[in-house]
Amino acid sequence: MPLVPMRTLLDHAAENGYGLAAFNVNNMEQIQAIMLAAKETDSPVIIQASRGARKYTNDAYLRHLMLAAAELYPAIPIAMHLDHGNSFDTCMSAIEQNFTSVMIDGSLQEDGKSPADLAYNVAVTKKVVDAAHARGITVEGELGCLGGIEDGHGAGLTGDEAMKHLTDPNQAGEFVAATGVDALAVAIGTSHGAYKFSKPPTGAVLRMDVILEIHKRLPNCHMVMHGSSAVPQDLKAKINQFGGKLKPSWGVPVEEVQLGIRNGVRKINVDTDNRLAITAAIREVFAVTPEKFDPRDYLGPAREGMKAICVDRMVAFGQAGHAGQIKPVTCKQMIAFYAK
Ligand SMILES: [Zn+2]
Repeated sequence: MPLVPMRTLLDHAAENGYGLAAFNVNNMEQIQAIMLAAKETDSPVIIQASRGARKYTNDAYLRHLMLAAAELYPAIPIAMHLDHGNSFDTCMSAIEQNFTSVMIDGSLQEDGKSPADLAYNVAVTKKVVDAAHARGITVEGELGCLGGIEDGHGAGLTGDEAMKHLTDPNQAGEFVAATGVDALAVAIGTSHGAYKFSKPPTGAVLRMDVILEIHKRLPNCHMVMHGSSAVPQDLKAKINQFGGKLKPSWGVPVEEVQLGIRNGVRKINVDTDNRLAITAAIREVFAVTPEKFDPRDYLGPAREGMKAICVDRMVAFGQAGHAGQIKPVTCKQMIAFYAK
């Protein structure tokens, strides 16, 4: 089937009480790993690419790889999403490249670094929503600023500074109503990358209560958790066993994500865990069989390692078993939906 608008998947997830992992990609093996996992678990799929990923792959390679995935797996609905669009133009260029969903991150200014005020965020998000919905494309906005920096995007907030930029539940209703976003990314103390927390997180630093509060006020709002990799200790240990030098760190426990899913979280961004799985597999091949030099000998196991993470998350988030139930809707059909 053609790529589907992400809104279709989010609505189905809300109606059936599950969440969807959104996996970041930069190359063919990562797309293959996700699709193999989706096929095995009958899961609907969200694949996302950041500005950095689009630059690394070149849009044309990415577009054709996604078309290949849709062609090879006609029974699986796939949404293609832009992660952290920094401007109206970036979002429009993604739509031209076949993305069926875009994120406009108006919590930061166009430089992707400086926190923006609410008026700017509302204005730029609304502008993207108007243009995207006219084309049937889904839009994710962000209120509050996430911690860390990834692919050069992010304010790099940590500790007390990050806590000052959490999503304010008092503003959520106003933001969603003023902009018309389909999904809302919330800042709850998580950050991008492998170094989210210096010890297993408690409720003081991982503020799940913000999600519960927003869900109470806006029960129909599809929330998005960013920076939500679990950072599995076994993968980090394996990387370090085979020559890596990762420092101690902790991520977001899968049980906390599941608590979020019971309270309105429909999309969970997962990137770091897949990066760790890929690196662990490649390091093992290099360390155990240093005579090997065919890229397939390490990219194959890397793909397998990432697939295992994807299967695990698809099952844990509850999206497994749902692909076959979703009636495909085209972006064109969504234009009428938004016009109402
Ligand atoms: Zn993010």
